[in-house]
Amino acid sequence: MTNRKSDISRRQFLQKLGIGAGSALAVMAMEPLKAFAEDTTNRPLPDAYNGEPCQMTYRVQHGSGEKISLLGFGMMRLPDEQEEVNRLVDYAINHGVNYFDTSPMYKGGRNETQTGLALSRYPRDKYFVATKMSNYSQDLWKLEEAQKMYENSFKALQVDYIDYYLLHGVGGSGMEDFKPRFLDNGLLDFLLKEREAGRIRHLGFSYHGNVSVFDFLLDHQDEYHWDFAQIQMNYLDWRHASMSKGRRRDADAEYLYNKMDKLGVQAVVMEPLRGGALAKMNDELSQRLTALRPNDSLASWAFRWVGSHPNILTALSGMNQMAHLEENVRTFSPLDPCTEAENKVLEEIADIMAGFPVIPCTTCHYCMPCPYGVDIPGNFSYYNEAVDQKILPLPDSKAPDYKKRVKKFGKGLRKALPDASKWANRCADCEVCLKKCPQQIRIPNQMDRIAEILKKR
Ligand code: SF4
Ligand code: SF4
Repeated sequence: MTNRKSDISRRQFLQKLGIGAGSALAVMAMEPLKAFAEDTTNRPLPDAYNGEPCQMTYRVQHGSGEKISLLGFGMMRLPDEQEEVNRLVDYAINHGVNYFDTSPMYKGGRNETQTGLALSRYPRDKYFVATKMSNYSQDLWKLEEAQKMYENSFKALQVDYIDYYLLHGVGGSGMEDFKPRFLDNGLLDFLLKEREAGRIRHLGFSYHGNVSVFDFLLDHQDEYHWDFAQIQMNYLDWRHASMSKGRRRDADAEYLYNKMDKLGVQAVVMEPLRGGALAKMNDELSQRLTALRPNDSLASWAFRWVGSHPNILTALSGMNQMAHLEENVRTFSPLDPCTEAENKVLEEIADIMAGFPVIPCTTCHYCMPCPYGVDIPGNFSYYNEAVDQKILPLPDSKAPDYKKRVKKFGKGLRKALPDASKWANRCADCEVCLKKCPQQIRIPNQMDRIAEILKKR
C-alpha cells in the first residue's frame, strides 16, 4: 500500500503547512469548508472509562499501522436516547472496540450527531470513526450539494478529520448511477484531494449489487489507491450470492474478498449475520451447531467465521442492546477462529439455507419510510420466519395442511405486525422504495407475493 499524505496526523499536517496547532483559525480562513473541531486529544476520559485491560482481537491497517478492533460498532440501529447511546459506546470503548461506523442517511441524519455526541466525550485518539458520502438522491449528485453533506459530517461528528470515509453503497444500479454520482460531477476527485490533505485518513467504498462497479473501482487501484472497501460477507453469501428470486447480486462474497485480498485492499464486513438470518435459523440447523459448541450462540458462529479471514479489518455489528454488545465483545475477546471441520459444517448449513426461498432482506431500513405506511422490512422478516418455520412455501391447495398453513401465516403476521395498516397488502406499487434497496430486491413484486398469500385466508 502506498504511504500517502492521508496517513499523517493532524499535527503533522499543520506542521507541513508551516503552522502550529494553535493556528487552526488560519486554516479555517484558508478553507472554510473544513473548520477544525475542538482538539480533544488531551481531553480527560469520561468517568465511565475504566481503562481495564481487554482481550479484544485487533487487526492492523496496512497503510497506517492503526490497530482496529475486529469487532466494529455499526451505529445504524442506535436507540433514540442519547444516554443509552453513550452507555453502549462507553461499554464498547472500555472493552476495546474502537471502530464506529455511521452515515448521514441513518436515522434521518440524527445518527451522525448521536455518534458525535457519544464519541466526542473521548480523546480523539481513542476511536476511529467511519462515515459516508450517502448522496443517493439525485439532488445530491451536484458537487456543491454533496460537499455540503461532507461538510456536515465533520460538524455532526465533532471532528476535524474522518478516519474512514466511504463512497456509500456503490453498485446498486451499476455504472449508470455511479458515473453521475461520483465521476462526472468531480466528486471522487474532490474526495481524493481531501485524502491528500489529510482530512480523510482512509478512503474506501461500500459495495452492494452490480459487480461491474466493484470491478471498475478495484481495476483502477493504481489510480484510486483504495485503503479499504466494505462488502457484505457471511458464510451464507460466501458462495450463494444469487440464492433467491428477486435479487440481482451477481458476485458472491468469495469473489469480492479474494479480489480485494489479491490487491491488498482490506475488507470491512457488513451483514456478518445476514440481517439476523444466521442468528435465528430453524431447530434442525441450529442443533448441528449447538451439538458442537453447546454454550455458543448462533451469532457467535457467524462472527467467528468472518473473523477467521485474515484480510478482514473489522466486522460491523449493528448493536442497539447492551446484551448483544456484551455477547459480541465476548466472541471477539479474543476471537477463536473456526477450524476446518467447523467451516465444513457451516458450508453445509449454507448450502441448505441457500435452498430456502427467502427474501434476501437484511432489515437495513434503507427503503423506509414507505409513503403508504407499509413496514417493508417487517413484512419480509416475517415472511422469512415463515419459510424458516416451514409454513412457506405453501403446498398445493389440495394438500391436507394447505388451509392450516395459510391460516398460520395470517396469524403469525398479525403477531409480528399487529397494526394491519403496515401489511404488504397496503402496497400501492408506487416504486418509491425500489431504487433504495441495496440488495436489489424487487420490493413491490415481493409485496404482491405476500398479499397473494393473505388473500387466500
Ligand atoms: S412500492 Fe409499495 S412498499 Fe414500496 S414504497 Fe411504494 S407502496 Fe411502499
Ligand atoms: S427491502 Fe432492501 S432496503 Fe428494505 S430493509 Fe430489506 S434489504 Fe433493506
